[in-house]
Amino acid sequence: AKAEGRACFRFYNEEMNAQAVEQLKLEEELRDAMRNHELELRYQPQVDTRTGEVVSMEALVRWKHPDRGMVSPGEFIPVAERTGQIIELGEWVLAEVARHCQYWDSLGLRPFTVCVNISPLQFNQTELPVWIGEFLDVSGLAPERLELELTESAIMTDAETNIEKLRKLKSIGLKLAVDDFGTGYSSLSYLKRFPIDTLKIDQSFVADMESPDGAAIVDAIIALSKTLKLSVIAEGIERFGQLDYLVRRGCDLLQGYYFAHPIYPEDVPDMLCQNFLT
Ligand code: C2E
Ligand code: CA
Ligand code: CA
Ligand code: CA
Repeated sequence: AKAEGRACFRFYNEEMNAQAVEQLKLEEELRDAMRNHELELRYQPQVDTRTGEVVSMEALVRWKHPDRGMVSPGEFIPVAERTGQIIELGEWVLAEVARHCQYWDSLGLRPFTVCVNISPLQFNQTELPVWIGEFLDVSGLAPERLELELTESAIMTDAETNIEKLRKLKSIGLKLAVDDFGTGYSSLSYLKRFPIDTLKIDQSFVADMESPDGAAIVDAIIALSKTLKLSVIAEGIERFGQLDYLVRRGCDLLQGYYFAHPIYPEDVPDMLCQNFLT
């Protein structure tokens, strides 16, 4: 048993080592990726349940790796978060969004909101509101076109300090959404005090909506959003049944593969012409 234990320990060690090496490699490659323009943005539409129109789009980053093909953000965002590279990456995302908005404006498209994911490390930067304010000035991007998606855990950690930061971001004119809502630990008393606009129901609850527990959680979040007078969006809609249920429950916006996968910026004009309820 002792020998076995030792073998097991050694195996575990080697595996951890391999993981660390892989991480380091990814970190290095990500640095190159930003330099070599291997990152790209896609946009996933968000549909207004009252009109069937696309009113907003979530920007999602993609990494076209020269040898590995598409690397999922689920793989490299956590690495970037750990190494601090997420700061530079986040700045790149915003600059790219501004560039795409200019392009869409030049085509004469009706304006829509662009939602941008802000990682916890990015959000925790003290100078974030000042930086974004300056960025908007320089880029000419209208603040009301931008919605920041912040995770529940990021804003709930040190909530008292964050209220102040959220107020600053609001005073610039930005919209604020709480992403992956329901997966962290929200204090309801703080939620009431946060100057936020939108709750985004985590897709795990939508996936689980056919079960009584799943449906109850979705119902509760929608009810909460009504009470707090917040807009509510559900993501991960893949089936008509989910759409149908959420529309009847009064969910304001829907996002998911059922409507569209994340698309290229060039395909946004066509997407805006679609109506998803007719
Ligand atoms: P998220 O913010 O929760 O984004 C939603 C994820 O669900 C996206 O995955 C999206 O492509 C996927 N999705 C959309 N509709 C459906 C559906 O109907 N079914 C299923 N199963 N999935 C759907 P993606 O693009 O792979 O991104 C994964 C995560 O990586 C995001 O989760 C977000 O946390 C992070 N991420 C992506 N882009 C950025 C970025 O620019 N900055 C930061 N900080 N994080 C990002
Ligand atoms: Ca998001
Ligand atoms: Ca989410
Ligand atoms: Ca998520």
